[in-house]
Amino acid sequence: MMHGNEPTGFEALLRLIRCGRPQCDWTLIPLVNPSGIDAFTRLTSEGIDLNRRARDHGPLESDLLKSVLASGSFKLALNLHDQRSLFCPNGQAIPSSLSVLAPRCINQDQESFSEPAQAWAGTISGLMRDLEPNWGYARFDDAYYTTAFGEWTQELGIPTVTVETGVTLEDYSRERVSLRLGEVLRTIDAIRSPPFEGITHYLNLPLNASWGVDLELRSGNQISHWQVWEEVQSQSHSSGIAKAIPQGNAAPIPYQTINLLKREFDEIQAKDSWTSLELYAVSSTDLGSFAEALPK
Ligand SMILES: [Zn+2]
Repeated sequence: MMHGNEPTGFEALLRLIRCGRPQCDWTLIPLVNPSGIDAFTRLTSEGIDLNRRARDHGPLESDLLKSVLASGSFKLALNLHDQRSLFCPNGQAIPSSLSVLAPRCINQDQESFSEPAQAWAGTISGLMRDLEPNWGYARFDDAYYTTAFGEWTQELGIPTVTVETGVTLEDYSRERVSLRLGEVLRTIDAIRSPPFEGITHYLNLPLNASWGVDLELRSGNQISHWQVWEEVQSQSHSSGIAKAIPQGNAAPIPYQTINLLKREFDEIQAKDSWTSLELYAVSSTDLGSFAEALPK
């Protein structure tokens, strides 16, 4: 949890810990951003994105992480994050449940890609696909972020994979994704080194696109698009849908479409956002079951 509102990797690490004696030596750092976790926010309480501070002196959180990474001889680093549901494998109408990235590394003025990182990234994605063939799998484009940790650890000589878990249409709480990621980590522990085909698998993954919308509502020729949101404030948690704001020029790709009577469509359309409870209270069977499936 380098970003305090991205807990799926943390849950997966707990599953790895509970599975008993591992074959490899692991250094697990489940919590990097405690103040962000308390507030369920991406940034620290000082407003800092820790994943953009790999090359700076300070803050304390990233200094501690760097001291751990620089002190060992690691064969693989995994940076576990969550991604929002708007990400989908390019051309597919399902959310990306797992996206991977072998961050770009630039050494001695010569650009190169780290093949071990690509082989691991493709292997991790392939292992998850073996378990859940119907989920969405993608890779991030490897734009170079100088200040991100993935690029920094790659350049330290540690093959690094950034893992971004997402939702599935049956499970917006990501419980099942964390379960599967825990199983994948256990398998990695057993295989120890990635098969070379991992590189091909990685390069053949579709790119992560950001044009997905969770819900399309239709009535006659009227259409509106909605995005699922989640909020945690101190002890309370709520979820719901908000009108989707179009991203760039690409047409939105809806994951689910529901046809409504005009009266119901107009009622939903009259507000910019709905909590899942409000939506459940006013809506008919199909929309009500969508609302019921949202995280509570
Ligand atoms: Zn993140």
